[in-house]
Amino acid sequence: MNDGLEEHLDALVGKLDLPRKVRLLTGESHWRTYAEQAVGLRPINVSDGPAGVRGPAWDNGSPSACLPCPTAIAASWDVDRAAAAGRVLAAEATRKDVDVVLGPTANLQRSPLAGRHFEWWSEDPFLTARLAGALVGTLQRHGVAATVKHYVANDSETERATVDIRLDERTLREVYLAPFEHIVRNERPWLVMASYNAVNGTAMTEHELLDSPLREDWGFDGLVMSDWHATRSVAAASAGLDLTMPGPGGPWGAALVQAVTDGLVSEAAVDAKVKNLLRLAARLGALDSVPVTRTPVTVDVRRELHAAGADATVLLHNSGDLLPLAPERLRRVAVFGELAGSPRIQGGGSAEVRPTHVVSPLDGLVATLPPGVQVTYTAGSYLEGDPAPVPPEMLGSPVLIRWLDDAGAEVAREDRQSAALVRLGADVPAGATTVELTTRIVPDVSGTWQLGLSGAGRIVFAADGETLLDDDVRPSHDGPGAEILTPPLRTFDVPLEAGRPVDVLLRQRMPKAGSAVAIRSRPPRRSAAEELAVAREQARAADVAIVVVGTSSQTESEGFDRADLSLPDGQDDLVRAVAAENPNTVVVVNAGAPVLLPWRDDVAAVLVTWFGGQESGAALADVLLGHAEPGGRLPMTWPARGEDVPVLDTAPAGGRLEYGEGVHVGYRAWLRAGVEPAYPFGHGVGYTSWELVDVHGGPDTAVRVSVRNTGSRPGKQVLQVYLARPGSSVDRPARWLAGFAVVRGEPGETLTAEIPLPPQAFQHWDTARHDWAVEPGTFEVSIGFSCADIRGTTSIKVHEE
Ligand code: BGC
Repeated sequence: MNDGLEEHLDALVGKLDLPRKVRLLTGESHWRTYAEQAVGLRPINVSDGPAGVRGPAWDNGSPSACLPCPTAIAASWDVDRAAAAGRVLAAEATRKDVDVVLGPTANLQRSPLAGRHFEWWSEDPFLTARLAGALVGTLQRHGVAATVKHYVANDSETERATVDIRLDERTLREVYLAPFEHIVRNERPWLVMASYNAVNGTAMTEHELLDSPLREDWGFDGLVMSDWHATRSVAAASAGLDLTMPGPGGPWGAALVQAVTDGLVSEAAVDAKVKNLLRLAARLGALDSVPVTRTPVTVDVRRELHAAGADATVLLHNSGDLLPLAPERLRRVAVFGELAGSPRIQGGGSAEVRPTHVVSPLDGLVATLPPGVQVTYTAGSYLEGDPAPVPPEMLGSPVLIRWLDDAGAEVAREDRQSAALVRLGADVPAGATTVELTTRIVPDVSGTWQLGLSGAGRIVFAADGETLLDDDVRPSHDGPGAEILTPPLRTFDVPLEAGRPVDVLLRQRMPKAGSAVAIRSRPPRRSAAEELAVAREQARAADVAIVVVGTSSQTESEGFDRADLSLPDGQDDLVRAVAAENPNTVVVVNAGAPVLLPWRDDVAAVLVTWFGGQESGAALADVLLGHAEPGGRLPMTWPARGEDVPVLDTAPAGGRLEYGEGVHVGYRAWLRAGVEPAYPFGHGVGYTSWELVDVHGGPDTAVRVSVRNTGSRPGKQVLQVYLARPGSSVDRPARWLAGFAVVRGEPGETLTAEIPLPPQAFQHWDTARHDWAVEPGTFEVSIGFSCADIRGTTSIKVHEE
């Protein structure tokens, strides 16, 4: 930072009286902080999030690139890939005038049931730290602030606003704080977001962990922002929280001014917060007196996302080397699954963005297969997820939005081309308490359609003048933002005729936060039995069958945890039916977390594409045809049976959730229990084969690993280094990840990687000294292609510190 900056910031703080200072500590709106002319400060724009940069508009008023979800990027095990995601986010933020990206996350996949599993990177703290860290560094090098979230132990959704996470000091340090520690120390993020939950009895927005270790030990000098509506009290102002979001309103403001006047909160605490905000502004170029030049970044976004999708794809197994497909031997390819036509490209909730286009698996295959190959498609089974907002091509008129006040008088109106609307807080026209959408829908086929809506509050919904709903619609759970993040759904069976327009009206008395509504439709469907019969027939007639299965927005999303790990809505039956007709069946899993695959041995190949972003269908087609390598390795363990999973408790008891498993999370717990999963952590087969040639350990804490590509195709391998400490005096994991490297090479090529093992990988948290400590002696070093596929070992002797 510039010389004299700290003094300059102090001087600016000194220019403001108490009410002006306090005003700066709450957002001006959902996505913006206050300006303050007296110190030459402009507003700072913040935006979600990991899947892309949405900007202030939450609907398709202003489209955004949709990236593969963090779990998918993590599956590449490639810090360069994470950095490339950071470049895309930086370019998008610059384009959308966003200063602060609300990401990355650094929470852990403690349980596969966690609703935001797709937004966490991995079950392993080391992998999470390195990948999220690479993204932070890249984003900020381009002048865009990263927000590392959610600090800390916000690993599942049930009762997330109030749950008290109980965990011991060692587990906190070695597992849940560890990614934050690495990122703060090495990448210097400009913001950290304090989470909703409490840890060991204290709300995280009020927790001493915001001071120590965050600032005092790790040297964090950025801004601590609350998660949305997470600040519980004025007292939080005495803790390390700097900015409460969103605004205006909330628990600070006048109440905080009063608390300072009454001596309950010190003015010095307020000054420190304002200074942290101004320091962020200085970094962003949001202070007139501190000019900043942003390094512009240009990215070929589509190409980057396409390549990222392939690199994230994990080939779980490939019997008889069916993949990659040989197009010259194909005459007919049959594609199945509702997700093949309408994939889930991103998880649901606060991270959602609206891209300009989506390449579905079906689109991708049709575009990539040679013209002579016939592609057939039928869903085969229906997902009970939300029917989509009425597509623009079915709108016979623009959607007229009228904003009404309490007396029903119109305060504003606008025309839009979209049947979905999200408008929050200050973006709702002043005085409006009700919003009304009217449009005309022109169906393209005749039959019984589902027409309906999503939205909470007092709702009226009518088609052709007939009122179908006039009711108070409650959200499905009472978590923060439920009316916005997971608005409830109501649908009605309505017979429609192709080409005959229907006038539709949706009126909502808005919840406090604002409006999130959509008019939705679903074309007529066959009965489930008829649909499955059609699928069987098409499977029988094809050379290869490709079935895309996955979770629905009803089963996997922010705001709630999954009830179980099964695929929803008859998709297992679909796979079994197709596989019974066609031995060349390939299953593609489109989900953000493991799902059970009870038929996995009866199909030729299984791939995981995660929530792969807007280009995911193109990436999948390239992988299936061998134009790209399936570069992914599992960043979590994939269970065979639900009951084997080490952590299934995401539901607090009496408001508390005990992390009783301690440091034994993910593969560490599987290895300790000696239970075999379907596919272990780090697994993925790719299209070539590899052998380990040589391993050298020490004398420094690094290993040199040589591997040879023994197959007939160029390929990628992820070299994984695990440590173990047999006979340790400390309760250690059976094995833990301490280093990794990606190698890419031609057939016959031998590649050598020097893999550094950071000193902390050898340390444990000493609860007597409250510090990191090393147990001198010999550590076993294992090099593997997964945590269970160990190809070589060496050892490293560690001496007294
Ligand atoms: C989420 C955050 C997000 C914020 C703003 C919260 O519900 O937990 O991750 O950044 O909303 O959308």
